[in-house]
Amino acid sequence: MQDAGLHIAYQRTSLREIIRDEAAVTDFDLAIVGGGINGAGIARDAAGRGLKVLLVEQNDLASGTSSASTKLIHGGLRYLEHGWFRLVREGLAEREVMLRMAPHLIRPMRFVLPVEPGVRPLWFLRLGLFIYDHLGGRRTLPATRSIGLLGDPLGAPLKGRYRRAFEYSDCATDDARLVVLNALDAAARGAVIRTRTRCLSADRTDLWTLVLEARGRREVASARVLINATGPWIGEFARSVLREPAPEHLRLDKGSHIVVRRLFGHDRGYVFQTQDRRIVFALPFEHDFTLIGTTDSLFAGDPGAVAPSPEEIAYLCAIANDHLRAAVSPADVVWAFAGVRSLYDDGSTKPQDTMRDYVLLVDAQAGKAPLLTVYGGKITTYRRLAEAALDRLAHVLGARPAWTGESRLPGGDFAVDGVARLIAQARESWPFLAETHARRLVEAYGTRISRILGSARKLDDLGPRLGADLTGAEVAYLMDQEWARTADDVLWRRSKLGLRVSTGERERLAKFMADAIGRGA
Ligand SMILES: Cc1cc2nc3c(=O)[nH]c(=O)nc-3n(C[C@H](O)[C@H](O)[C@H](O)COP(=O)(O)OP(=O)(O)OC[C@H]3O[C@@H](n4cnc5c(N)ncnc54)[C@H](O)[C@@H]3O)c2cc1C
Repeated sequence: MQDAGLHIAYQRTSLREIIRDEAAVTDFDLAIVGGGINGAGIARDAAGRGLKVLLVEQNDLASGTSSASTKLIHGGLRYLEHGWFRLVREGLAEREVMLRMAPHLIRPMRFVLPVEPGVRPLWFLRLGLFIYDHLGGRRTLPATRSIGLLGDPLGAPLKGRYRRAFEYSDCATDDARLVVLNALDAAARGAVIRTRTRCLSADRTDLWTLVLEARGRREVASARVLINATGPWIGEFARSVLREPAPEHLRLDKGSHIVVRRLFGHDRGYVFQTQDRRIVFALPFEHDFTLIGTTDSLFAGDPGAVAPSPEEIAYLCAIANDHLRAAVSPADVVWAFAGVRSLYDDGSTKPQDTMRDYVLLVDAQAGKAPLLTVYGGKITTYRRLAEAALDRLAHVLGARPAWTGESRLPGGDFAVDGVARLIAQARESWPFLAETHARRLVEAYGTRISRILGSARKLDDLGPRLGADLTGAEVAYLMDQEWARTADDVLWRRSKLGLRVSTGERERLAKFMADAIGRGA
């Protein structure tokens, strides 16, 4: 993997010692701390503009909030109620940009919004969806339609009280893979991507000098600009790394999800309105499962230790039971995860009312290198956030043209509606692939599938089977090309095969990877 350009100062502790002893500290234009969607998106955009970029992530890519979202690429229908039109318009428009950019990873989804007696009236939903259909320059996604639920298969999974619903369009993705694809493309364009590398300190003169720690070794790097893209860690980063007061207006907001075995047979998602006017999704997930979420509550504590509470799991089960005929209990939960948003606090009293737009604060003290801090944002709007960040820094980094709007992410260089064709082609080229296996690989890797399957003529040519349809060849690719280092990197962030492997298979995978690392992978 890309490792060039960083100056290594083994086992030293003091910054002064490092700088005195190591004269040739490498310069970057831009150092980004945080390998979530925002850090990876900015790294890609900046590298594509010809800037020299360093991205450091203390754990795995997307190990923070960016693997714990609802995984929607959406305008956010509910945000219309708050009058957040700019945010909704930008998200709606991004759906189509993202579909073109990564047709393997972003897929259109239809959402069924049942009219809930006593919550929001029919005319209100109709008006909201009319605006949603027309606000963001929708081109390929189908428009909203109204459904009579009695006798319609989409009504069958629902409790009997529903009579009408609306069906509208948005998109879904794999959030963690989206981060990895951005990092991959950034690296291909020259960015240095360092995972499992923690930024310990950042000192500012006319340049930033960063002390980084990776696997017990210290390194130092310098950059003209620093971006704090640490998501829910931005306050902690300010305090302990920048040694500055915690940023004002920071609000942390926790949300949890549960995953259960599939609760309905079709491919639409449901949008449930709760009595307190919240919205909870029940979405088809990984073909055999249903994803239910989210909760919303203020958060304090270590974002690295966030987990769904038993109360949140019970709440999400209760919402599902209130709306669906199928019964769901905490014992049915096969996976649960939680994430924390770092929001710019606009003084709202309820977490769900706090503004979800991104805010970029630039601290440009005279004669000193600038710092840009990223608040909030959505998976959906990361590309626009990256453009906005580079615009804000143009006075230092130079104004270079934006380019990502018409770009493709790795593996996404095929037609927007070409996934089925690519799956068919894969099965022609590698006839031993089962349909589900080919589909999973195409949806994850797009046209890069050939880098995994190569000249294999039978399944055994792909190395050992490591659980579900995971093979040694795929794991080797993920370790070599996508920064995977642990079983969880592979099972939960590069794929969702964690839903399908046993504990024994997970241990075998961990050993396979440890052995490969031992051999120098
Ligand atoms: C419950 C929930 C549901 C959501 N659903 C959606 C959705 O459906 N659609 C949508 O568009 N958006 C959604 N979002 C919003 C979206 O997930 C977030 O805005 C986005 O993931 C934030 O990304 P980030 O890069 O800012 O932060 P993160 O992904 O948290 O990345 C920050 C990274 O910084 C690293 N880091 C911290 N300190 C250091 C250090 N000192 N050195 C090195 N690295 C460090 C962390 O390890 C972490 O990986 C949701 C958010 C939540 C919480």
